Amino acid sequence: MQDYREAARLDALHQLKLLDTPPSEHFDRITRMAAQIFQLPIAAVSLTDKDRQWFKSRVGVSHCAIPRDKAPCSQVAETRDVVVIEDFATDPGYADSTLAEHGTRFYAGAPLVTKDGYGLGALCVLGTEPRVATPEELAALTDLAAMVMEQIELQHAFGRIDPISGLPTRAQFRDDLADLALDCPGQARIAVVADLARDDQIAKIVGAMGAPRLDEMVREAAHAIQGALGADRTAYHVGTTQFAFLSPPDVDVQAYVALLEQGFQAIRATSSVRFVTNVAIGMRPFRLGEVVPEDVLRGAASAAQDARRNDGAIALYSAARDTEMRRHYDLLQDFGAALEADDQLRLVYQPRVDLATGRCLGAETLLRWRHPELGDVSPAEFIPIIEQTALARPATQWVLEHALDQLAVWQAAGLDLTLSVNISAANLMEADLIQRIQLALIARQLRPSQLEIELTESAMMAQPEKALAMLRELAEAGIALAIDDFGTGHSSLAYLQQVPAHVVKIDQAFVRGLNAAWGADYVLVETMVGLLHKLGRRVVAEGVETANAAALLASMGCEEAQGYWFARPLEVAAFAHWIEARKALAA
Ligand code: C2E
Ligand code: MG
Ligand code: MG
Repeated sequence: MQDYREAARLDALHQLKLLDTPPSEHFDRITRMAAQIFQLPIAAVSLTDKDRQWFKSRVGVSHCAIPRDKAPCSQVAETRDVVVIEDFATDPGYADSTLAEHGTRFYAGAPLVTKDGYGLGALCVLGTEPRVATPEELAALTDLAAMVMEQIELQHAFGRIDPISGLPTRAQFRDDLADLALDCPGQARIAVVADLARDDQIAKIVGAMGAPRLDEMVREAAHAIQGALGADRTAYHVGTTQFAFLSPPDVDVQAYVALLEQGFQAIRATSSVRFVTNVAIGMRPFRLGEVVPEDVLRGAASAAQDARRNDGAIALYSAARDTEMRRHYDLLQDFGAALEADDQLRLVYQPRVDLATGRCLGAETLLRWRHPELGDVSPAEFIPIIEQTALARPATQWVLEHALDQLAVWQAAGLDLTLSVNISAANLMEADLIQRIQLALIARQLRPSQLEIELTESAMMAQPEKALAMLRELAEAGIALAIDDFGTGHSSLAYLQQVPAHVVKIDQAFVRGLNAAWGADYVLVETMVGLLHKLGRRVVAEGVETANAAALLASMGCEEAQGYWFARPLEVAAFAHWIEARKALAA
């Protein structure tokens, strides 16, 4: 065969990334069928590599490869024709071949030909007795070879090779892992996930240089990682900028950490991808067949996230973290149903008290979730999870509608209160948020001033400019705004000064330790109150747990307080009782 033609053929074969992959049932069932049709003990899907015939699938043979020299499959690949050897002993070309030496007398092979016309190898059957092949048998073998090719091309085309990096995908990783587990159950391996960049870095690259530049970087990184692994190991492209691979069997975890560190350092030193300097690596040791493939990958990916969060380069999978991630996932899955159900979500109300007069001015609305299996789940746990998703919108809408329903009931009963409702950063990006709030107020004949929207300082900082624009519109609509958790959000005073919030709530972190007129907390809170007053804001202290703290805050001129000292967040009925008792106290 001409050299260039053979080089192109080999290239086509290697591109398919089939060589040295584990056996697969998709192919094995076709091979078994070929053996059955011929009533012969041996059959194989045999691929013609540079100097070997490698078996992707085999029946009746234990080895994975034989030398290419004098292998009839090689002739099938080269000629792309059916080859039949009725008796090796009398065949001049094959009488002294390896197969003949091992007792093979009969061979029939049908070519595996790609759409581009490259012969990859053969679907072949072998026997230990001389025989002939009928035209019907050869037609069946040819049909089965075509099915093998369809399987190969299907695997290659359909979600199995990433079009950007050219590497096998997450789906392929799963399948390969399952096949590997069948081949070597119990073998110890480490799954490694390398995450190249943080989401915001990706967004920046795409924003500044366009998506093609990101593709180029991903391609370069893929090439570098695959290069470092070598030709006999596979790197998988499992997420936009995430790659995965498996360690060799039975490596020592600590030694492998060191090896990976070295490997990635080398990539960094030689690659033009500046990108990989931010690589975070997660490792998940496991035994083949003992952990389902999807969990293996998720475990390694969650370790990579841990590495990223801790600014470390490499992190090892932790079962505790995995349990946590799984719980996150479950909560996210179940929250949608909670919004639909009528017995899972409810609101509680925590009074806000005027420090000068002791009067209750209003309450903060706080969401509660009783999960049917997990029991009470704190909003501090589920809100941060759902507010990252599309559920942020219906969740806020649910709270708003139910809070205003309650406010209308209290108003009808003669209670004059202001309710505050917490919203998430994501809600600010909803173009119709203000309209929805206004509609909800009008439908219940409530005034905008009876509602206050609380937004944390850190939520504003997620997208400061957009947040500011939205908050200004909110203020123009006459809806009051409070900055929540003040002092913990890393915002600048220059920014906060522009936020049209009438109220600022000092975070409990500063208030809880307040028990004497000295100490760091005292100085901090007093300074904050003074500063906020100078900026014309009304100050609410959160987390007031003692009479002492309430008195100190009053002496600083802090207007309002909220906390366990006055009341815990209360159910509707308890809230009404609390108000009555308080009135009696004041009277
Ligand atoms: P937040 O808005 O700062 O609410 C105050 C939290 O402090 C509440 O926790 C309240 O129960 C607690 N707290 C009040 N007084 C004291 C006290 O004296 N000592 C202590 N240790 N804690 C006190 P909760 O209800 O668990 O809510 C936690 C967070 O979850 C809230 O913090 C808020 O950010 C979020 N959240 C709650 N409900 C909603 C909601 O409907 N929507 C949104 N977007 N977030 C909500
Ligand atoms: Mg709040
Ligand atoms: Mg707060």
